[in-house]
Amino acid sequence: MSAAPEPASSTHHGLPSALSPATLAVAAGRPPRVQGGPVNPPVVLSSTYVSQGEVPPGQLFYARAGTETWHPFEEALGALERSVHPALVFGSGMAAIAAAMSLVPPGGRIVLPRHAYNVATSYAQDLGRRSQVTTTFVDVADTEAVLAAVRGKGAPGGTPASMLWIESPTNPMLEVADVPALVAGAHAAGALVAVDNTFATPLGQRPLGWGADVVVHSVTKYLAGHSDVVLGAALTDDPELHARLHGYRTLHGAIAGPTEVWLALRGLRTLALRVERSQTNAAELARRLVDHPAVAAVRHPGLPDDPGHARAAASMDGFGSIVGLRPLGGAAGADAVVAAVRLWVPATSLGGVESSLERRRRFPGEPTSVPEDLLRLSVGIEDVEDLWADLSAALVHAQGAGEPRTS
Ligand SMILES: *Cc1c(COP(=O)(O)O)cnc(C)c1O
Repeated sequence: MSAAPEPASSTHHGLPSALSPATLAVAAGRPPRVQGGPVNPPVVLSSTYVSQGEVPPGQLFYARAGTETWHPFEEALGALERSVHPALVFGSGMAAIAAAMSLVPPGGRIVLPRHAYNVATSYAQDLGRRSQVTTTFVDVADTEAVLAAVRGKGAPGGTPASMLWIESPTNPMLEVADVPALVAGAHAAGALVAVDNTFATPLGQRPLGWGADVVVHSVTKYLAGHSDVVLGAALTDDPELHARLHGYRTLHGAIAGPTEVWLALRGLRTLALRVERSQTNAAELARRLVDHPAVAAVRHPGLPDDPGHARAAASMDGFGSIVGLRPLGGAAGADAVVAAVRLWVPATSLGGVESSLERRRRFPGEPTSVPEDLLRLSVGIEDVEDLWADLSAALVHAQGAGEPRTS
């Protein structure tokens, strides 16, 4: 052990360096190893802390500003994203997204993927109505078009954007961006870059390592992984941005409950196993769906002829476990599949241990460029043969829709 004290912001807490992400998910954010001490952090339920006089930086004093129950999760996620500072946990993914978008100055412009998570794009448009922030929507897979928009093409006065928002793969269209090229090009134009890393998880890609300024997560999804909490997180390597995001969280009160954060850390411990299994399942189902007679189109970055395949293979570890499926029969055909499954859960959200599916255009906020018949499948960790049997029977049944499924 080195005698030098750990810097206060270290996310590695005395762990050997160069541990793999699968190991960090298990080992990071543990309490100090003391004889008789617990291996898991406790949940501390206290809204306030004993304090008087001036509060030194880092000392707990009131739970909206920070609690010790957040820190282990923040440390573990920071270790996984290899960030300089620990993550900042928020009350939801949207709270983290709102914090990141608050870095755009009034009158600034955000360039966003047209198929980014639809509540994030709605929020950016809402900011526009309230604070003169303008938005430009792009096809995030088209690097040249994205960078032209960042530099000012099509913007009033041709002014460069303040922020490039990246989601890759996108929700729900699964477009894959060239994140390193976008970060470099956007920085050259003077824009901040924020990446929503929910779909890829830090096991799939670590955008801070490519120079992104901010990474956000819907912890609700893969990181927590059990569809039992709503949580978010933001990360940055920049001390000034870290202070601004932290300040936003405290001022807006966009905070998480301690029990939820504890549950998220418990879920995070199995992230590597869950992601590995669900990705293997998704790859197998995507392969089989391509040849299914009741299927019009399949999108999954792991399919060799998928438009995002080469880029994902070059820059990501794994292809994720979301599959885009367009059954025959249009929106009605897709609805009939959702109605006919028995094992798959008809529900929104994704990244849980259970497989789920939904037709995205059922939400009026979904862009009309998302096909009406697109089902977003979130593949879980069940036995792949059971998933296939249920889905393929539902696809066949939906072709002759009307009768409830009997077999
Ligand atoms: C679900 C989701 C969000 C929103 O997160 P919440 O935790 O639901 O607030 C943001 N981005 C992506 C990609 C998501 O899938």
